[in-house]
Amino acid sequence: MSLNSLPPLREVIQTHGLAARKSLGQNFLLDLNLTGKIARQAGDLSGYDVLEIGPGPGGLTRALLAEGARKVVAIEADPRCLPALAEIGAASGGRLEVLSGDALKLDPLPHLHAPVKVVANLPYNVGTELLVRWLTPQNWPPFWDSLTLMFQREVAERIVAKPGSKAYGRLSILSQFRADPRICFELPPQAFSPPPKVTSAVVHIKALPAPRFAASQKILSEVVARAFNQRRKMLRASLKGLVPDVQTVLDSVEIDPQRRAETVSLEEFCRLSEAVRVARIQG
Ligand code: SAM
Repeated sequence: MSLNSLPPLREVIQTHGLAARKSLGQNFLLDLNLTGKIARQAGDLSGYDVLEIGPGPGGLTRALLAEGARKVVAIEADPRCLPALAEIGAASGGRLEVLSGDALKLDPLPHLHAPVKVVANLPYNVGTELLVRWLTPQNWPPFWDSLTLMFQREVAERIVAKPGSKAYGRLSILSQFRADPRICFELPPQAFSPPPKVTSAVVHIKALPAPRFAASQKILSEVVARAFNQRRKMLRASLKGLVPDVQTVLDSVEIDPQRRAETVSLEEFCRLSEAVRVARIQG
């Protein structure tokens, strides 16, 4: 059997008894035109291994294979989906490897060969945590060339937000420090079965070869976590305890201690993080 002659997804769901489970964030995409459109946002897949999280009944998995992925490594927590995915694997000439388990616990790297793209309609309950992990390895460039991911629209807006907007925060800084994110398109709740309560959006995040500005990723993460944890407070208060004398460090990089985190640009956060690093060394 070829990928094109696999049964429609509604039939697959019925045959394998895949009634959606809320606890696993299961909102399935059943329209193969739509899964094809998502897969194409990742660009050319031939010559790439693709990591997919949460393939479910395999709508997006089919599209990734049809778009020519060299191999798809898919991590799925729901064992009920495995027989349906095995059928896709057989129809793809063995290009699908399914890892059964929790994507937060399994390490897919031994199963992947560079270059790698990540494409997923993520379970909402683990999406942000996975994104932060993929964005914050110590070394850069990371194992992936790009991430093409479905999020709730609000999360997508946080990823691409610029200073001065309500959505601007930790996720914006982590996404823009060493990568280039853009929102591709939005999907209404009715695109999914069952429909979620919120509008979704596909985001494409391309890894940059190097960070936009010099900074330690670890210290930058710490600074923005503190700054945005108390985003209404002035920096001199929200950053208290970061170094013994926060005011002097802020003065040294010409950032007014009375400013609030949402007005501080990525470049300023990087400068501040460097000053924190130096202040800690001088201790
Ligand atoms: N990709 C499919 C689609 O587009 O129709 C399903 C997407 S559905 C939003 C999320 C999928 O992730 C479900 O199949 C669910 O079982 C799976 N999932 C949930 N939590 C997971 C986890 N921690 N690790 C791996 N898969 C998980």
